[in-house]
Amino acid sequence: MGSSSNVRVAIIGAGIAGLAAAIALKDNPSIEVQVYERAPELREIGASIALGPNGMRTLDRLRVYNALHDSVAFRNKSGLPMIYRFAESFMVPIRVHLQAALAEHTPATQIHFSKAFQSVSFDAGTQSLRIRFADGSTAEADVLLGADGIHSAVRRHFVPSSQTRWTGWTTFRSVFPVDPHLAHIADLPDEAVHIWGPDRTLFLSHLGRGLFTVVGSTQSDPQVPSAPYQDATWNEEGDVAVLRGFYKEWSPLVRQIVDAVPFTRVYPNATAHALDSWALGGGQADDRDEGSGSGARTSSGKRVTLAGDAAHAHGGAFAAGGSLALDDAWAFAMAIKHAFPAHQLQARDRGSVGENIERALRLYERTRKGHTDRVMRVVAQNNAKTVDRHREAGGGWRETDDELRVRMQNRADTSWIHEHDVVEAFAEALADEDPSQGELQAQL
Ligand SMILES: Cc1cc2nc3c(=O)[nH]c(=O)nc-3n(C[C@H](O)[C@H](O)[C@H](O)COP(=O)(O)OP(=O)(O)OC[C@H]3O[C@@H](n4cnc5c(N)ncnc54)[C@H](O)[C@@H]3O)c2cc1C
Repeated sequence: MGSSSNVRVAIIGAGIAGLAAAIALKDNPSIEVQVYERAPELREIGASIALGPNGMRTLDRLRVYNALHDSVAFRNKSGLPMIYRFAESFMVPIRVHLQAALAEHTPATQIHFSKAFQSVSFDAGTQSLRIRFADGSTAEADVLLGADGIHSAVRRHFVPSSQTRWTGWTTFRSVFPVDPHLAHIADLPDEAVHIWGPDRTLFLSHLGRGLFTVVGSTQSDPQVPSAPYQDATWNEEGDVAVLRGFYKEWSPLVRQIVDAVPFTRVYPNATAHALDSWALGGGQADDRDEGSGSGARTSSGKRVTLAGDAAHAHGGAFAAGGSLALDDAWAFAMAIKHAFPAHQLQARDRGSVGENIERALRLYERTRKGHTDRVMRVVAQNNAKTVDRHREAGGGWRETDDELRVRMQNRADTSWIHEHDVVEAFAEALADEDPSQGELQAQL
């Protein structure tokens, strides 16, 4: 990284959070951004991803209109809400199309592929972070955003005790062309639908580009040693016969659709514990300048933070992960831009760089962490409730239509997740951090 800007930002992971953060930070002469991605290229995961109003609003603010285009994603034609009481319709693009749409807005020279993060340390000589990759190469930066997904190596580096745990939910996902597979089904739903049973759900939706997605989710008690799929590998090939078996007692239309699914892939959902703080580094044992050989602790201050699943792996509930990642990225960028305003481009003063980064990371955490901690708490409570029902019923939980209706009617309102406004939250965090800035609204 060069040094003509006031701050050099390294982003680990070119997923949804990482690319969105790079886009939100671009075109600002005081900020230089580089993205380091483990994969050799953006890869097809063959899965859909749902976006709620908050994520769609953030894509709009990022001006990533190509991700919102009907050729990439499917929007309910009626404009009516689907699962929750959304103000806008639910939207379902394919995950890799969303990622590709984001990548189109990130200069290719800023994305470095085949760079798997290994470690980071503070170099007292250059007063910079030194990032090491699995291929032996290194990079320098002032601040690091770990956006490297659910099994984040950045999170593990700073919080080695942080482990992911299977929630008991396993998802079978298929994405395939409507024609020829479903062309014979006259009543194929026009709108995205999410059908609920006691311990399983089925999500059906058209996608952009003539594709269709079938997402079957089943829940088991994660404490039962023989629970199926607890040892499944993320994105492994699944057995369509097993998927069909889940819905064999469901309506004829459901059976007809599920019977036509040509293949499926398996995803065991996982969560990780909420972290005490998202501002990492600064005097921790890991934050040594290994390269100096001295092993002495350094005084880098906090210069590392996390976004997306790396910060708050909540297990995919409420189809909120993609939108939460987008909002994190936006908040991180707002905090960095606030600490390093474009109009104050000046000669780099290393001391003030560190202070401004700490300020930015505090502001970012204040904007996001309370909200995502609450999401994780609610998900954990919901999962615990349904697992208890399994245990009470000795594994054979059944539910009548009326009971299901009551359960759905009594579900907690989740509009606070899907309607969350990250710009408003940032303005509030700013006012809390520095009351003299109370009137200053988010500038992005
Ligand atoms: C199959 C599937 C379906 C999903 N469905 C939904 C849904 O319907 N709705 C929803 O909201 N969410 C859904 N999610 C979750 C959603 O995709 C995530 O919450 C969201 O992608 C989080 O974005 P992220 O940027 O944090 O992580 P990711 O998008 O996972 O990106 C992480 C990136 O980091 C890279 N990386 C990993 N390790 C390293 C390393 N050591 N060094 C460098 N790079 C690294 C990865 O290759 C990847 O590109 C789904 C996820 C999957 C995989």
